[in-house]
Amino acid sequence: MDVHREILDSSAGAVCVDARFLTKAVLSLKLDVVPGEGMLECDGSSILFHSKTLESMYREDPNLVTRAIAHCALHCILGHSTPNDECSPRGIAEDMAVEYILDSLGTPHLSLPDGPERIYSFERLVSMAGSPSVDRIAEAIAQESQWKLSMYTRLFNRDHHASRTGNDDRWKEISKQALTEIEGFSEMPAGRTDTFMRLLRIRNRRRHDYRDFLRRFVSKSSLPKEDPDTFDPIYYTLGLQRYGNIPLVDSSEMTDNRSIDEFVIALDTSGSVMKGPMTRFLEESLDAVRQCLPDGRARIHVIQCDTMVRSDTLITGAGDIASLSERFEIDGGGGTDFRPAFDYVDSLIEEGRLKHLKGMMYFTDGLGTFPEKRPGYDVAFVFCDDGSTEHPIPPWAMKIELVPEDLGPETIR
Ligand SMILES: [Zn+2]
Repeated sequence: MDVHREILDSSAGAVCVDARFLTKAVLSLKLDVVPGEGMLECDGSSILFHSKTLESMYREDPNLVTRAIAHCALHCILGHSTPNDECSPRGIAEDMAVEYILDSLGTPHLSLPDGPERIYSFERLVSMAGSPSVDRIAEAIAQESQWKLSMYTRLFNRDHHASRTGNDDRWKEISKQALTEIEGFSEMPAGRTDTFMRLLRIRNRRRHDYRDFLRRFVSKSSLPKEDPDTFDPIYYTLGLQRYGNIPLVDSSEMTDNRSIDEFVIALDTSGSVMKGPMTRFLEESLDAVRQCLPDGRARIHVIQCDTMVRSDTLITGAGDIASLSERFEIDGGGGTDFRPAFDYVDSLIEEGRLKHLKGMMYFTDGLGTFPEKRPGYDVAFVFCDDGSTEHPIPPWAMKIELVPEDLGPETIR
């Protein structure tokens, strides 16, 4: 048997032994060899090695070959499918993420010298960037000196990133499987598994057209609420994503429900929330609500709440929307508790100030205390953060997860 083939097959086998969750990914990549020297590259369907370089890698340390295969497989799993320059901040950030995971595994066939140095460099950048998201890490790297960039390339790079095709479809499913498998993989120290999970969650985040979600939510606001056991918000949002798969809305329902005239937009104004995304969310939501509600009959309460209700602004028409967006200031700064806003809305209902409330959207960036009981109206929690955090919600609520980029550029006034 051809010696190169033998090296590659045994190395691929060693990757699967060390990291079972990579098996499907490794089997999905063809391993090819061309004569000569050069850096290996992966286009998403195969990894291309150069014979001379492969031989010298193997002679130096067989783990260099297993590591290279795992490196490319992880790029694919994490959705690093867009061609880039591996020496650019983006390319370095992608290399750092995959190398960090492989160093964290600490398994016999994937270990290489300088692991602690790589782990330190990546963790330092994660704490600077506040997130392991490749986008955020790349931004942090772009601030660093050229010297640091060269050091990162030397430490983290194993492959060319230029021949990627940008086609990622077949990897999405493999990535979801890896996420499930890694949950049962306990070899990594807890903190590092967490980083890997966060990276996989970012990768597998359901992307929403949330403007469409807003329009549908406001127009319909009548969701399957009879049986909480069968109402799976994940399935619901998945259905939203693949329009038409779920009996959420059809054109006749859109028209029928135009009589809904009361709506609540609650804003979590706790200390951690960023003003930019919140303002943009508010503008978009008001716009969607206004488009769906009959003119002159809309009553939209914009409630600001951290651990207590700070303000309630009633919007009844386009003029109110314009003046609210002009004057909007965040009022809050404390912790997060969702209950006061729900209690407050209940009191408005009791007092008869809200008569036909059908829906509430609660914009937040994180964890808070939920009410125990299902309210008498539909609720969607809208989360906005870097996409790496899991957001548990009560079974009666819906969830939409956004990153600030989803909200588009800030309006300049
Ligand atoms: Zn790479």
